[in-house]
Amino acid sequence: MKLIYDYTQEQLIDEFLEMGEKKFRATQVYEWLYRKNVTSFDEMNNLSQDLRKKLNSIYCCELLKIKEKQVSSDGTIKYLFELNDGGLVESVLMIHEYGRSLCVTSQLGCNMGCKFCASGLLKKQRNLTAGEMVNQVLTVMHDTGERISHVVVMGTGEPFDNYDAVMNFVRIINYAKGLAIGARHITISTCGLCDKIEKYADEGIQINLAISLHAPNDEIRNQIMPINKVYSMDRLRESLVYYIQKTNRRVTFEYILLKGINDSLSHARQLAHYMRGLNAYVNLIPYNAVDEHGFQQSNIEDVEAFKNELLRLKINATLRKEHGRDIDGACGQLRAKKVGEAKNGNFC
Ligand code: SAH
Repeated sequence: MKLIYDYTQEQLIDEFLEMGEKKFRATQVYEWLYRKNVTSFDEMNNLSQDLRKKLNSIYCCELLKIKEKQVSSDGTIKYLFELNDGGLVESVLMIHEYGRSLCVTSQLGCNMGCKFCASGLLKKQRNLTAGEMVNQVLTVMHDTGERISHVVVMGTGEPFDNYDAVMNFVRIINYAKGLAIGARHITISTCGLCDKIEKYADEGIQINLAISLHAPNDEIRNQIMPINKVYSMDRLRESLVYYIQKTNRRVTFEYILLKGINDSLSHARQLAHYMRGLNAYVNLIPYNAVDEHGFQQSNIEDVEAFKNELLRLKINATLRKEHGRDIDGACGQLRAKKVGEAKNGNFC
């Protein structure tokens, strides 16, 4: 069975033409799926019985199975979904003043090996398809009965290691006559695959780019993020200069403060130096401790001092509000737990 959510509008039209169906039928199906939010072909009552039957025999439009759901006292909901092949993925819904934002998973596991991250505890098994990402959005909208206004591709996985599917995902949720999630409300976060950053710059889409930087110099970044040995911070900066020139958009740096590793005032100065002249700002992130890794969250005084040093040096910096502290907050934690339990019974 093919997953209907895998197709952009143009791709679905091509599929329908190949099946000998009219182009406008594809548009109708697309509207049912993304405008009228139905989850079965049988409900698409402007299609003939025959076509509905045909679609039922070729495509699947089922939502994801919700395996587990954790609701935090601040309203954050963490979902654990089961895919058709039994793979487990996490999505996190965060409630903000400006809307509802969903953090979407792009791969089953991750190969980037960042030392502080729970996702890397489990190696990549496979990429998710565009439709499996779309389905995270649809399933959460159905479960909560509320529209999702913002999407961040910041769940498990490296989106630029699954480039084509992630770009299709973005096109599908951005489609104006469908879910219509605004490009400026969509953010892709990468650990810094520079060739893909440059490709992304050439796409001409107004989606946001966030870079997981987490270090002020190559020495520290090499230790905590293996990708830095492939693309150094200078190389990363070059690709960002290209991106900013091409898109005229501001880049976000994510910077997790790790106690005693990257959180001193001198680190803040090095970071400011790195960012000088770039149209970028820093989002400082309190570390969500992952038991297996041994890193600790920086003291709040050090975090404040770090931020103030950046501000003094005229670098834009904000401190990210923590969501879902009382549930398995860190990326990949819930999934790592569950997969681990399933594998050896006593992962945690
Ligand atoms: N691979 C992509 C997206 C997934 S990670 C990337 O690297 O950006 C999403 C963000 O969460 C990254 O900035 C990542 O570094 C951060 N992160 C990972 N583990 C974390 C933890 N334990 N606490 C806080 N942030 C974490």
